[in-house]
Amino acid sequence: MRYALTSLLGQALRGNRGWTPAWRRPEPKASYDAVIVGGGGHGLATAYYLAKEHGLTNIAVLEKGWIGNGNIGRNTTLIRSNYLLPGNVPFYEHSMKLWEGLEQDINYNAMVSQRGLLNLYHSDAQRDAFARRGNAMRMHGVDSELLDREQVRAFVPYLDFDNARFPIQGGLIQRRGGTVRHDAVAWGYARAADRLGVDILEHCEVTGIDIVDGRAVGVQTTRGAIRAKKIGLAAAGNSSRVAALAGLRLPIESHVLQAFVSEGVKPLIDTVVTFGAGHFYISQSDKGGLVFGGDIDGYNSYAWRGNLPIVEDVAECGMALMPMLGRLRVVRSWGGLMDMSMDGSPIIDKTPIDGLYLNCGWCYGGFKATPASGWCFAHTIARDAPHAFNAAMRLDRFATGHLIDERGAGNRPNLH
Ligand SMILES: Cc1cc2nc3c(=O)[nH]c(=O)nc-3n(C[C@H](O)[C@H](O)[C@H](O)COP(=O)(O)OP(=O)(O)OC[C@H]3O[C@@H](n4cnc5c(N)ncnc54)[C@H](O)[C@@H]3O)c2cc1C
Repeated sequence: MRYALTSLLGQALRGNRGWTPAWRRPEPKASYDAVIVGGGGHGLATAYYLAKEHGLTNIAVLEKGWIGNGNIGRNTTLIRSNYLLPGNVPFYEHSMKLWEGLEQDINYNAMVSQRGLLNLYHSDAQRDAFARRGNAMRMHGVDSELLDREQVRAFVPYLDFDNARFPIQGGLIQRRGGTVRHDAVAWGYARAADRLGVDILEHCEVTGIDIVDGRAVGVQTTRGAIRAKKIGLAAAGNSSRVAALAGLRLPIESHVLQAFVSEGVKPLIDTVVTFGAGHFYISQSDKGGLVFGGDIDGYNSYAWRGNLPIVEDVAECGMALMPMLGRLRVVRSWGGLMDMSMDGSPIIDKTPIDGLYLNCGWCYGGFKATPASGWCFAHTIARDAPHAFNAAMRLDRFATGHLIDERGAGNRPNLH
């Protein structure tokens, strides 16, 4: 069923009794041309672009839980392409362009909202670093503007400008940045992939990877064995555990990242703001809740909940930026599992095992990458070679020293 104004009106007149499920619930087949392990945003987007761009339709996405249970349904929905390094900028800008046409492409309202994303600076050194980043973006054809203090005040007057612990000097804004409804991205890609013939297999955990003569030939799952010519791993925070099934040890640590939503209030924040003197960012959802978060919890874990010291840290940063936040009640908080790589950048590559491909290392920034990640991973799987956009996102860069250290923090995953 195609979603359109006419189908909406038709359903309304018939009491909404004719809607069909957004995707089928097929039984697993014995074999596929390709299987993708992980039904998060990246896995679903990969399956969709494999079918759409490369004509591979005998594909399954194997998801151990339900669609939307992982980070794709847990993130704070920010999208941007304000990167500095040549290995990253074209990739993230490609993602931004895919976001801009996504809803028409997959025929799904993902609530893509380019409301602008403003990074504040609070010192001369930070201003210089942001000016450099903004210039690098412009040289790659990406929009960016450096704002001074008065321009920022005119744009977001509700921040603390007059009595701040860390005075705001200005900001770097990407006006094409913004937010997208996270779980709608999962549902939209699942539905679009399903329409192209992809089997979405929920509650199908991969428990083993079969390797014969150095080639991956299939997977063991809780719903039986499945043979596959190509296997793509896109398990985000569980990447190390899934890759270990094939005997691979990844340069990844899993950490917890928390997010928070306040009670709903009238429209207040019509953009995304990030604090430059601590790790804090905030936006407002269409339901009115303020959505915010900060640093990762800083220890290795596979748990989906975090600890109170980070709650306190995030609240402190928020109060330093917007003292009025102290009057709000937090109604929900949760954690997700971050696949932190050693240089803070992702991996989209072949593995040393033939027929086995890897997509991971998204740290806490993989949501914005979802379309390009799926697009590039599909290309890598279908062509057995990376696309130019993900050519630098190699697995062996940690051995060869070709890191993509966007933040300059070195090989310390908890600092990226
Ligand atoms: C609180 C929070 C805030 C964030 N904010 C942002 C943000 O604002 N902007 C941004 O760009 N990014 C953000 N991120 C990061 C982003 O959400 C992730 O990088 C991205 O979603 C990861 O890719 P994914 O969607 O494929 O992951 P997931 O949705 O986690 O998908 C991986 C899937 O693999 C499945 N799986 C694992 N093991 C197996 C197995 N053995 N067999 C089968 N399936 C398996 C899991 O169940 C899961 O569904 C945030 C993350 C969190 C937690």
